[in-house]
Amino acid sequence: MSKRADWIWHNGELVPWEQATVHVMTHGLHYGTSVFEGIRAYRSHLGPSIFRLEDHIHRLFASARIYRFEMPYSVAQIEEACRQVVAANHLEEAYLRPIAYLGAGGLGLTGQGCDVEVSIAAFEWGAYLGADSHEQGIEVGFSSWVRPPSHSTPLMAKAGGHYLSSRLISQEARRHGYTEGLALSTAGFVSEGAGENIFVVENGALVTPPLAASVLEGITRDTVIALAADLGVAVREDQLTRERVYAADEMFLTGTAAEIVPVGRVDGLALGDGRPGPLTRDLQQRFRGIFDGSSPQHDHWLAPIAVGSTV
Ligand code: PMP
Repeated sequence: MSKRADWIWHNGELVPWEQATVHVMTHGLHYGTSVFEGIRAYRSHLGPSIFRLEDHIHRLFASARIYRFEMPYSVAQIEEACRQVVAANHLEEAYLRPIAYLGAGGLGLTGQGCDVEVSIAAFEWGAYLGADSHEQGIEVGFSSWVRPPSHSTPLMAKAGGHYLSSRLISQEARRHGYTEGLALSTAGFVSEGAGENIFVVENGALVTPPLAASVLEGITRDTVIALAADLGVAVREDQLTRERVYAADEMFLTGTAAEIVPVGRVDGLALGDGRPGPLTRDLQQRFRGIFDGSSPQHDHWLAPIAVGSTV
């Protein structure tokens, strides 16, 4: 991988990007035994700030708990490390990738003998689903791969191994000419995108699949639910069928990497006029408003960083 930033926080210290490497016997490499986060930092009216840092680190520790990882650092240490790595790289906007994984200490499946190692990268990363995805919207398609149920793979955890499913879904979508793939749950209801949650608009209200539909409890999903409340728009969690999505007035995907992305077509069918819908646009604007000071009630979601302050 080409160099994307100067420093990576690796097991407690900042190391040059090139030196943040792992051994080939790393347990997480063989079995997907890792838990991770995707977080963004934005330029904001409070200065460069990490968005919903506490919530992301809380989810990281919840993921670690589900997979019974003994985290070698506290929540406060990891939050501070996130701030530190953004500051050290002189980034004002960034994508952060904290990851905790079982290291090299034996290949037994329990991971006995493997320490939990933790790294945090921060680098510039544009809109995940394409530079014009926010403005133009994207085309998506349902995958033939279904999401595993939570009693097989606990999807509340954001774990490395779960992304084998995501990769199959997004690769299949690309093969069919779509920008992103959507999956159903084993029960046949709409679940989520390969790396995003799904919302549809029906009669002016937002509907999103419940956690029981094998979805990750997305932080952007939660942000959109709060922004909808600001707009006085009703939000319902409901088991969606595929045909209800085809009949929706609007649709969009949410995720930290993707942000809020309008969907113009699903399985080749245009939603509305195939252009980003009015409620989707309002929510995108409200989302931007979090960072420009126009919705100060959400300032607690911003963790300001003093760029250039460390190292
Ligand atoms: N579902 C999956 C499978 C994801 O990987 C992500 C991205 N983390 C999401 C949903 C959206 O979650 P968030 O808004 O917290 O990034």
